[in-house]
Amino acid sequence: MADTNHFDVVIVGAGVSGALIAKQLGAAGKSVCILEAGIDYKDSAAEALQRFYTAQAKVPESPYTPAIVTPDAQGVQSPSNPSEHVIGRATTLTLGEDSWQNSNQAYMDQQGPLAFASTYERVGGGTGRHWLGTSLRFPPNDFKMKTVYGVEEDWPIDYDDLEDWYGKAEHEMGVSANAADQGYHDIGFPSGYSYPMPQILDSLVDDAVKAGISGLEPQEGIKLEVTNTPAARNSVPFQNRRQCAGNTNCIPICPIQAKWDPTVTLYEARQSPSVEIRFKSVASEIVVGEDNLVSSIKYLTYDTFDGGQTGSGEVTAERYIIAAHAIETPRLLLMSTNDGKTPNGVANSSGAVGKHLMDHPIYLSWAHTKDPVFGYRGPLSTSGIESMRDGAFRSKHAAFRIEIGNEGWNFPIGDPYTTTLDFVLGTNHSQLNDSGTAQQGKGLVTALNHALTRQFRLGFLVEQTPEDNCTVGLSATYKDRLGLPRPSITYDLSDYTKMGFVAAKKVSSNIYAAMGAKEFTKTITKEDADSDPTSFSVTYDANGAVVPEGTAGATTEYFQYFGAGHIVGTYRMGSDSTNSVVDKDQRSWDHQNLFLVGSGVFPTVATGNPTLTLAALALWAADTVLADLG
Ligand SMILES: Cc1cc2nc3c(=O)[nH]c(=O)nc-3n(C[C@H](O)[C@H](O)[C@H](O)COP(=O)(O)OP(=O)(O)OC[C@H]3O[C@@H](n4cnc5c(N)ncnc54)[C@H](O)[C@@H]3O)c2cc1C
Ligand code: SF4
Repeated sequence: MADTNHFDVVIVGAGVSGALIAKQLGAAGKSVCILEAGIDYKDSAAEALQRFYTAQAKVPESPYTPAIVTPDAQGVQSPSNPSEHVIGRATTLTLGEDSWQNSNQAYMDQQGPLAFASTYERVGGGTGRHWLGTSLRFPPNDFKMKTVYGVEEDWPIDYDDLEDWYGKAEHEMGVSANAADQGYHDIGFPSGYSYPMPQILDSLVDDAVKAGISGLEPQEGIKLEVTNTPAARNSVPFQNRRQCAGNTNCIPICPIQAKWDPTVTLYEARQSPSVEIRFKSVASEIVVGEDNLVSSIKYLTYDTFDGGQTGSGEVTAERYIIAAHAIETPRLLLMSTNDGKTPNGVANSSGAVGKHLMDHPIYLSWAHTKDPVFGYRGPLSTSGIESMRDGAFRSKHAAFRIEIGNEGWNFPIGDPYTTTLDFVLGTNHSQLNDSGTAQQGKGLVTALNHALTRQFRLGFLVEQTPEDNCTVGLSATYKDRLGLPRPSITYDLSDYTKMGFVAAKKVSSNIYAAMGAKEFTKTITKEDADSDPTSFSVTYDANGAVVPEGTAGATTEYFQYFGAGHIVGTYRMGSDSTNSVVDKDQRSWDHQNLFLVGSGVFPTVATGNPTLTLAALALWAADTVLADLG
């Protein structure tokens, strides 16, 4: 009888990478088992929407399971206790001064000094369920920061190596864009290349920014330009899915699946009879055999989120692929000590597993225009300013891309609710109801029309440097309901990254001034920086060099940052096995039949949202595995 637990390939994680790889392998007739910690997306889609509609706090994690809030004895909704959940994950609701290190609320055991502010999902389809869909290529210089600017690291691959894989990923996921617009910073396309769908139309907000900055002086020698953003979102019907209806709900869930998410590809993968997914199956140990090859993966099963372990299993394969994203992958590697045989975890002879945790910390600013720009329509973002993703300034401070938001002040202050309540109750949390007047009837409608149609915001996604002191480890104290150690995080921002915030703030103010818009960005004070785990200060001299606070003639500024959801860099690729975890093929240096995929392999975070690049790399890894299997 055939062994029902032996496969050509075992994949851990049914998110973006896992889904793309499973589809390729299944189409080639290989037998594949995906172990997925979360529940089946088929069971959860309607439920997820319902949970989101009724959620009081509409954060990216709200639709997904296990619920991030539960009612306490008095019926008050508060963050659930992660020790009581079999598959915990982080939520932005626990980034407050009192909650970020409260282990009864926050899943990650945050050690500081700053808070890691990004989150992810553990559900069939992974974090790609709640992503925005922005699908940018990285400019060539992002792959060779050390060579070109003398900072950070070089990748062991360059843009040319990835170019074809980018094209394949764009067609697999369904990206809408015009290639002619995307060739900035030397991003190349094969002659005649076209994206699978034309671009999503620019919004009225985009048009206002474009017109407003047309006369703006170059910033650090760079002329700013608005560029339409490539997005894995249907501009026309595609892959049996509808075209975008423009209702600004892409994060955390597109109700009509006009936005690509991994469940689209998982569905296709599951049409292959040789692809099996085991949901509610949490990989708990990667077993290494005598020959130093991975010999199996053990997993634990559960029925309900708060019910504990109900069973266990073990699967074997010719090749193993870990696609559990950049916090759960290092967690699994570090947990896999093999009764002391791999005391520092699997694939960790370099000691680099869990190191160099990165994100694109966001500088968020917002303003009110003179004339209406009519936000709250279209996808959350349709254009950006990509001009400062590269330039000579990168030898001194971090680069950034500027996302133009179409969702009014939803991100900064939770609008339209906050402003509406201000005008109904006579409060002024939005700063738009200076007189503190409570309105009703026609007056209320006029006031809200004036206030809401002029709102817009900019999000500056700042490049973070890879540092040894930004880590994912195993908590010595806290476990989940399966008895597995929860992730422990240390996190900080380098001077180079902080000076990127200083540059971003300057550019932001210049844009609003050029547009004649009134800025409402929250002023961060020293007190904020001292108490808020997502705020910091930076002091610099006239040359832009960071100096100790109090230095004569120096300037000190205070900032708050937000997580971008771009979790990067915790098992990086390299060309030297002593300081990297995988080679350029994403194959573990230590175990030749083990592949680690996802943004954890990025040596640097670069300047673009990571998913298109990790998808391109996943397709490349699938090809290598197929070649291995013959
Ligand atoms: C709010 C938000 C917006 C975003 N928007 C964008 C965007 O516009 N553009 C962009 O490029 N990126 C965006 N991202 C990032 C994007 O979502 C991630 O880069 C992408 O989902 C990562 O894919 P992945 O396959 O590596 O991981 P995931 O998609 O997270 O998949 C990992 C899978 O592994 C499973 N898993 C975890 N642990 C185990 C285990 N022990 N056993 C079995 N299974 C396990 C999880 O359940 C999950 O299904 C956004 C992220 C957030 C949070
Ligand atoms: S705007 Fe609406 S329809 Fe379009 S992708 Fe976003 S959520 Fe889906």
